[in-house]
Amino acid sequence: MLQYLIILLDDTSVSFCHYRNTNSNRRLIALDGLKAGILFAMKHNLMVQFVYPDYELPESYATVIESIDHHKIKPFSLKEDASVVVYDYREAVSDQTLNRNEKTTLVLRITKDELFSGYEEVIHFLKRSNRLSLVITDTDTFRKEDFDTYKKVLSHLESAIPEALKENDDMPQLNILSDRIQLEKMNNCNAGVENITLAPNGKFYVCPAFYIEDENDSAGNPAEGITISNRQLYTLAYAPVCRKCDAYHCKRCIWLNKKTTLEVNTPSHEQCVTAHLERNASRNLLNELHAKGFFPNKEIREITCLDPFEWKE
Ligand code: SF4
Repeated sequence: MLQYLIILLDDTSVSFCHYRNTNSNRRLIALDGLKAGILFAMKHNLMVQFVYPDYELPESYATVIESIDHHKIKPFSLKEDASVVVYDYREAVSDQTLNRNEKTTLVLRITKDELFSGYEEVIHFLKRSNRLSLVITDTDTFRKEDFDTYKKVLSHLESAIPEALKENDDMPQLNILSDRIQLEKMNNCNAGVENITLAPNGKFYVCPAFYIEDENDSAGNPAEGITISNRQLYTLAYAPVCRKCDAYHCKRCIWLNKKTTLEVNTPSHEQCVTAHLERNASRNLLNELHAKGFFPNKEIREITCLDPFEWKE
């Protein structure tokens, strides 16, 4: 069931996920288009997530935005009243004002090489945020040696969480390690199923990446509704292997799936293995947290296979 409407306010709106947005030409959504999106959200009882560009919007837009319950996803340069602040790794390293803020989630977009050489910096950010959401932007390029390195990096990140617990009362949240511990079932991105994106041209897209990549790949509009062909194929019910998997935190990125396997519902080997390495690191973390009295009733079972598509019945 649809729950969220993502509204890209401008063609230069910040990327908060796997895709890159290299657009530098501003195209602000028309005020009427914005109002139509908000009306659609009201009619369908959707939570709206506004994705901001790197400049202040006209006052008339701010008034319309405030007319509905919403979250603001903003680039770090406009972070003041953001619910989610997005950094690319280099921006985060150079931002001296990055402080712990109880209400803000940090999204850190990072390449595998930046993560492998800069995981100590990531630990530093983790200690400064209430929730840090790492988005590895080139998961599709992982090779065998990268999986081995990622496993070691996860082990370093994993040991930083109990360390940070000594300094703070609350457990810092790092999506790739703490989400799996708290989940009881699949919690994927679900683009096209639980969320849909309204672009600055007034049309719907499966997710922002689909718009950025091909403006012609639209999926309806607020007046006519959502028109995704074979929409059922985007659901977990139609993914027989994922349905049995317990890497519950995996994004199952529809856009990456389409790019790497040509099937919106079939993740690549790289997505499956990275998600399983994270799942196993979450299990190690959980065992450490058990010893400190956290999550006494939680358990993540031991498994040996890292790619469900290689399971043997
Ligand atoms: S399908 Fe979801 S996870 Fe993938 S790029 Fe789009 S929003 Fe991000």
